[in-house]
Amino acid sequence: MTTLEHALEIIAGTQPLAHPRGNRIPFIVWRLTDLQGDDAELEHTLRELDARGIATVTTWHYGARDKDLPRCLHYAGILKRLGLPVVVNTTSVVNRFFNGDERTAHIDADGNPFFDLSHSERVKIGCPFAVEFRYQAIRAQVETYVKAHHERGLPLDILIADWEIDGPIEWNDAWTHAKRCTRCCKSIPDIDDFHAFQAAYRRIRNEMQRQCYADVVRSLYPNTLVGNYAEYPNDGRRHWYDYFEHPPKREHPHTLDHLDPVRPWINGFADTHYTFAMPVVYTWHRIHGWYPWPESDYRWFYSMLKVVTNSGRSAPAALPVISFVHWHTTSPPKNGSAAPQMSERAYSELLWHMFLRGHDALAMWCTDPETLKETQLVQTVYAQALEHAEFLDKGTPVLFDVPAEPGTVVSALKLGKRLLVRRTDFRPDPTPVQVNIDGVSVAIPAEPGNCQILQLP
Ligand SMILES: [Zn+2]
Repeated sequence: MTTLEHALEIIAGTQPLAHPRGNRIPFIVWRLTDLQGDDAELEHTLRELDARGIATVTTWHYGARDKDLPRCLHYAGILKRLGLPVVVNTTSVVNRFFNGDERTAHIDADGNPFFDLSHSERVKIGCPFAVEFRYQAIRAQVETYVKAHHERGLPLDILIADWEIDGPIEWNDAWTHAKRCTRCCKSIPDIDDFHAFQAAYRRIRNEMQRQCYADVVRSLYPNTLVGNYAEYPNDGRRHWYDYFEHPPKREHPHTLDHLDPVRPWINGFADTHYTFAMPVVYTWHRIHGWYPWPESDYRWFYSMLKVVTNSGRSAPAALPVISFVHWHTTSPPKNGSAAPQMSERAYSELLWHMFLRGHDALAMWCTDPETLKETQLVQTVYAQALEHAEFLDKGTPVLFDVPAEPGTVVSALKLGKRLLVRRTDFRPDPTPVQVNIDGVSVAIPAEPGNCQILQLP
């Protein structure tokens, strides 16, 4: 299916917003990228999507820039004419620092260069202390696209990179390789301490993103939202695993939450100079096997709520949080998954709790055949949440408890003396539960499937 066909399918399968979007960030559907059509057709489609709160994405294709850049400029011109935000997938202009050049390799005691292929067989991850000469080339890639828009007076509203397997990464076999590299050992005197190794690697990873991407964009577009997949303020713990990340080995520090190996993480978000945070809240297949509960939904929900809470609570109020979400079981084994799919109800409830725990907006990634269903699930909650725009815009999240067993989850936004509350029960319970808000005990009645507005004493 073409992306334009997906767009038409979504328009037919969703309802226009009943409450205006106002200045809130639209719902970003990652699959709706590079819509092709004549201008009249595109304008009509983009208007219909906007009426549903949905934004499309322009993917920059640096490798094909001679043809691609004029197309991107044209599309941005249409969006400008319609007064719609320009949302961009910038991944290609930040890829790749580690381009396979032998000068970027680690170097062993015998002087032999080597790479770390434990993240991807296709990406030769090299030495963070030998890659600085690549910065200028990446900066130039970013500048090519950003300057071209700037010179034509075109807006760039939200720039999202999916920059993952490139630059220093501390997981998988990275630490073992670093300890074999004479340059890494010289540069990190405490390399036998994982935390020192991780801090050194993250410092360079953040420097790359700051100097070659965020600062380049912000020098021409100071008000643009610029960020990257999986970069967000956090509390020093990493509660999820990306598809390419292996479980920790015995020597890697981690703490077990049931069978979930929680890893230490660096909170270096401020060093990236990004202007929005981008947590990743996905139904990773491995989540389901970590916990013992018969309530299958709470296995998914618990793990994802930990990510939601960590990121929502750690982000300063002024920093927009735009979270990647995905409902269908993510990255299942090739021979199929035995884990029951998270229910639609539990996923919808999770989206509500995200809005009530400091997440501002949603970007949805999915595979091609999943597009309509995934869009419908998110758009429904997005549209309903706009009824409470005043709370979303001005309220403060006040509840961050993640129950250690399936039970009752409560989240709330406080605005003056009023609370917007969502209560979700994973074991049926008709009685009110007590929560503590600013030292006051507040009773939260059961109200399955609905938000409540409560008055504080
Ligand atoms: Zn090295």
